[in-house]
Amino acid sequence: MSGKLQHPDRDPDRRQFVAQEQAPFGAVLSCIDSRVPPELLFDTGLGDLYVMRTGGQAADPVVTGSVEYGPMTGGTPLIVVLGHQRCGAVKAAYQSMRDGKPLPGNLQAIVKALRPAYEQAVREGGADPVETMARAQVRLTATALRSNQDLAPLVRKGSLAVVGAYYSLDTGKVQVLTGAPS
Ligand SMILES: [Zn+2]
Repeated sequence: MSGKLQHPDRDPDRRQFVAQEQAPFGAVLSCIDSRVPPELLFDTGLGDLYVMRTGGQAADPVVTGSVEYGPMTGGTPLIVVLGHQRCGAVKAAYQSMRDGKPLPGNLQAIVKALRPAYEQAVREGGADPVETMARAQVRLTATALRSNQDLAPLVRKGSLAVVGAYYSLDTGKVQVLTGAPS
């Protein structure tokens, strides 16, 4: 937030250190938005994070499997579902569902994946329904991962936390919405 970046783990030593095997400390599911690359937001380097990015953090079985890979096979202790302010994917999906106008081609698959968040936003109301929907999408996606049959046992054991968080484009702040480890 203050701009004091350390740019860790980006030199040739680090590259060689992780060349044979990796042990990232987190897996991040975030949006494709060009302004929210997790590796840069969290000031990380080579071998630090698994990163999955889809429009509005929309998840399907392939995405979910990719998120699960680290925690299920390598003991990665943290999953972060990261939403963000002014998400274009959430906004487009909101407008599509509100107006009953499907988006063209494969974009509609994202709209479908975001329907539960849309419905929750409609129920919650609020001054800015798109922001409400973006936060709902984070919470719903984190909760679904935390309680699915493969990850729930790891969460119960205390070896995995699934956190939902929200990134402010304006301030650079990441706010934890759900699942902060106790
Ligand atoms: Zn977005």
